[in-house]
Amino acid sequence: MTHNITNIDHNIEQALLAFKQKKLVAIPTETVYGLAAPINNEALIHKIFSLKERPFFDPLIIHVASIEQAKSLTTQWTETAQMIAHTFWPGPLTIILPKKEHVSDMITAGLPTVGIRFPKHPLTQKLIKSLGVPLAAPSANKFKQTSPTQVEHVKKAFLEQDVYILDGGPCTVGIESTIVDLSQTPIKILRPGMLNKKDFAAIGIDCTEIKHTSSIEAPGMMEDHYMPSKPLFLTSTFDLSIVTNFLNTKKIKRYAELKLPDDPIMAARKLYSLLHQDIHQDSFVCHIKSSWQKDPQWFGILDRLKKASSAIID
Ligand code: AMP
Ligand code: MG
Repeated sequence: MTHNITNIDHNIEQALLAFKQKKLVAIPTETVYGLAAPINNEALIHKIFSLKERPFFDPLIIHVASIEQAKSLTTQWTETAQMIAHTFWPGPLTIILPKKEHVSDMITAGLPTVGIRFPKHPLTQKLIKSLGVPLAAPSANKFKQTSPTQVEHVKKAFLEQDVYILDGGPCTVGIESTIVDLSQTPIKILRPGMLNKKDFAAIGIDCTEIKHTSSIEAPGMMEDHYMPSKPLFLTSTFDLSIVTNFLNTKKIKRYAELKLPDDPIMAARKLYSLLHQDIHQDSFVCHIKSSWQKDPQWFGILDRLKKASSAIID
């Protein structure tokens, strides 16, 4: 198939030019690739939602290249915010704070708060610094589909669209940022990621977590998000007959095993590339080890697996 994306490079000038030409820019970050627009360009922010087919009720995260820029977006830069930012930024952490009036309602989906992150990737930092304006960017995938951790994944999602892709190589963290809400007390982890409760406790900050981050539950509880092209099934049983019997009831004959490395850092890094694979089989099956469900380092990975899966086999 022919497509419009001729613009894949690591050229900051080209990325800046793309914004001027009313194009979106796919940006590399340590978590996943983002689909970015300057926060002061409403038409381009609108284009993020239309290209992604994302509903307007789902707010975007704003990416900054300094703590000063983060402060310019919120009315309440508290001591806690300063300590967290100082410790974990640049890094895979988004903080939620009350927004300043100039931050567009389209970005925050009408919420009085804004999600802010300072990503680590040097190319994206350079782009934001050169532009002088923060970038709003959700993950560079169609709504509900698997997030991209490589340029190839971005190309696949936006084959027909004129997007400039800033090539920063494969993402090193591999799953989306931890989101921590500092606008309420106690501080709450809204989305688990590779930074967890223990990391915050280490600097004296106590966080509550959203429920169900550490166990796999009934299929009815799951949201359909991060969906791969073939259905994913999770199981904690290693009894293969249970798995094949279950799949038979779904008329699924063959499955590919989704094998994650034992080290959570490596598992997160590889997860989406494994889910983006073009497999010949009809489905993926991932065996969840019980040890993962007790270890906060796995909670972000388990959360994404649950959201990407169609059912639990047990
Ligand atoms: P992503 O699609 O990975 O870029 O993540 C965006 C997600 O960040 C949204 O779906 C929300 O869950 C979360 N988010 C962004 N801004 C806010 C906010 N102001 N309050 C709460 N959650 C937010
Ligand atoms: Mg996303």
